[in-house]
Amino acid sequence: MTRILPDDLSHALATRAVHAGQVEDPLAGAVMTPIYQTSTYRQEGLGKHKGYEYARTQNPTREALERNVAALEGGTHGFAFGSGLAALDAILKLFKAGDHIVSGESVYGGSMRLMRQIFEPYGLKVTFVDSREASNFERALTPATRMIYCETPTNPMMFLTDLQAVGDLAVSRGILLAVDNTFATPVFQRPLETGTDIVLHSTTKYLNGHSDMVGGLLVTRRDDLAERIGFIQNASGAVPGPMDCWLALRGTKTLPLRMKQHDASGRRIADWLAGHQAVEKLYYPGLASHPQHALARRQMSGFGGMVSFDTGNFDLTRRIVERVRIFQLAESLGGVESLIGHPASMTHASVPPEIRREMGLTDSLLRLSVGIEAVEDLIADLEQAMN
Ligand SMILES: *Cc1c(COP(=O)(O)O)cnc(C)c1O
Repeated sequence: MTRILPDDLSHALATRAVHAGQVEDPLAGAVMTPIYQTSTYRQEGLGKHKGYEYARTQNPTREALERNVAALEGGTHGFAFGSGLAALDAILKLFKAGDHIVSGESVYGGSMRLMRQIFEPYGLKVTFVDSREASNFERALTPATRMIYCETPTNPMMFLTDLQAVGDLAVSRGILLAVDNTFATPVFQRPLETGTDIVLHSTTKYLNGHSDMVGGLLVTRRDDLAERIGFIQNASGAVPGPMDCWLALRGTKTLPLRMKQHDASGRRIADWLAGHQAVEKLYYPGLASHPQHALARRQMSGFGGMVSFDTGNFDLTRRIVERVRIFQLAESLGGVESLIGHPASMTHASVPPEIRREMGLTDSLLRLSVGIEAVEDLIADLEQAMN
């Protein structure tokens, strides 16, 4: 099969986004990867086939997406899953009872729930630490530690983890490092370049970008991990359907373009919120006032469209979500449309209240996923809702 681009990552990200991992269509010359909506493939004779036997194991549309995202992250192997959590589930299946994982505590609520309520009962041990200091991960290591897991920036507090520092730590101790890169995307941050072994995505978010599917993806450069993850993907079977893969693949083609706008509008809205009297606390890594702004500048080439703020007043917070018109009250993030979320009752309802309190996730906190609408309209919408 002839690739449109060579696999050597010699092209710029915007070019890779459109073409990487795509093959020429031998039947019709289709410019867009077809949706191979099939469960099985005709074989010519016993043991004679085109490399495709059964669609849980191989699907050309899924493979095109996997190669595309792998190329965007600067990795060599990609594995698509039915959701971001199914992708994390596959990572956790690399381990066995008695193994220990050190995870950031400010991770996506469902990620923490999966580790605590599904895998801990099977005997995996997980310690959750404040991921803002790499030394917290180091202190929590035990002889049984097999993996460090973190998210940066975190959801919804925008805490950062120093990827170089935890990468160095993981490499020096010979333990795995997996990073959830859903928020920053490969457009702004590439963890594989600083010692991360596995990058995780909820493709539901920015990678797809159009809020019309749910999916997950893992990328690695390590052949040994790829072999194991590929085995788990097929053996556990949490694979996405070809239609969803195609939607995600259509999304990644415009990822660099969309991220540019999310970033520009995110900065504008964060600046505007910084000057608003109803805002008590503001969380955006692109602001000079963010406590880890220097780190953000070092490891991110953009800051994206996720902005959280706290009014310090639950009644006002409730009024804002009821009054906004362009921003829509909904879970999820990363789509072309702007969303507003209330983490305490929505995405992070499953996180224990004491951990929520500890990280500053109050009942009056709001999280914006700034979309690609005209930023003037978005600011006007917030203004009428907040005043
Ligand atoms: C949404 C999300 C997940 C989970 O992904 P699903 O596709 O919903 O399973 C994991 N991490 C982050 C940062 C997310 O935003």
